[in-house]
Amino acid sequence: MSPTPATPGSAPTPAGDRDWVHAAVRVVEADANRSADTHLRVFDLPDDWGVRLYLKDESTHPTGSLKHRLARSLFLFGLSNGDIGPGTTLVEASSGSTAVSEAYFARLLGLEFVAVVPAATSSAKLDLIRRQGGRLHLVEDPGHVYAAAEELGAQPGWFYLDQFAMASTVTDWRGNNNIACSIFEQLALEPHPEPEWIVVGAGTGGTSATIGRYCRYAQHATKLAVADPEGSAFAPAWRTGSRDVTARGSRIEGIGRPRVEPSFVPSVIDEVVTVPDDESVAAMRVLFERTGIRAGASTGTNLCVALRLVHRMRDEGCAGSVVTLVCDDGNRYLDTYWSDDWLAARGFDLDAGRRAVEPLFP
Ligand SMILES: *Cc1c(COP(=O)(O)O)cnc(C)c1O
Repeated sequence: MSPTPATPGSAPTPAGDRDWVHAAVRVVEADANRSADTHLRVFDLPDDWGVRLYLKDESTHPTGSLKHRLARSLFLFGLSNGDIGPGTTLVEASSGSTAVSEAYFARLLGLEFVAVVPAATSSAKLDLIRRQGGRLHLVEDPGHVYAAAEELGAQPGWFYLDQFAMASTVTDWRGNNNIACSIFEQLALEPHPEPEWIVVGAGTGGTSATIGRYCRYAQHATKLAVADPEGSAFAPAWRTGSRDVTARGSRIEGIGRPRVEPSFVPSVIDEVVTVPDDESVAAMRVLFERTGIRAGASTGTNLCVALRLVHRMRDEGCAGSVVTLVCDDGNRYLDTYWSDDWLAARGFDLDAGRRAVEPLFP
């Protein structure tokens, strides 16, 4: 079933559109109903370490990243609020995974989706958005994408999805098969079903907020670590307790922000660890060499922190489990993090990264 065709440009009239909204919610839920849960994969460690490491593989969503969850939640929230109706044109400031996933859901509903992106964005990334049916609105100054998206979204019949403001609000943190709930269910039959640590990155901050809140709500002792790249405002904000921090911004796509985003909730995070970019990329490469999992660079950032926590637990004789995420599919980055030339041209030192991270791997 698909909602009646959209009439782009017309303003939603909430009361009369209830049938459309119900059909649209069903279309979004049907996507989840067709999809299996993402795997919780075992990353093999020597038995005598006494520690188990698991990778929650978010690259297997229909749109290839953990942003599939966020896009679904943003759409359900917008539909349930009466902000998204037949004919609504959706807009987002994103050149990355969020735009890809949102374009996918917009197309399921027969709605227009516009991604506001910096004009310098690589054509490979823009192709991914176009392939899902998204339109592109190019902005010369990368600093202006948010204002431009907000301005477009303020037009009659338009709606700004606003991932950075809304991520931690739209996600159902108490359960409803959110990522935290799913991790704990999948660990139920493991030797250490309550992990000592869960390690994630922060882009919007939504994933860390959901996991941290859920652990308290479900009364788990599990601690939450955020793996943060160089140049991110999140680590200094967490350390100083100030949300006014700004930073130069990150080179690891999907994580690390120049400002503290509204969805970042520092109070539920037990440790924030800054990971050098060389190490993030090296860990991404070594993960592939050891397991065949081809991930993006933010997965490498996660792995650097997860493995250091594994070693800490091992050294302290603390048996238990650690969980981290495979955030997205590395095939998106064949021309970037997977290209030695691209890395060298941008000053990455892969050999230095390898020297730092290879000893962490078993
Ligand atoms: C968005 C994103 C993250 C971080 O998730 P948030 O919930 O936004 O904090 C990590 N890795 C990748 C590849 C992402 O796209």
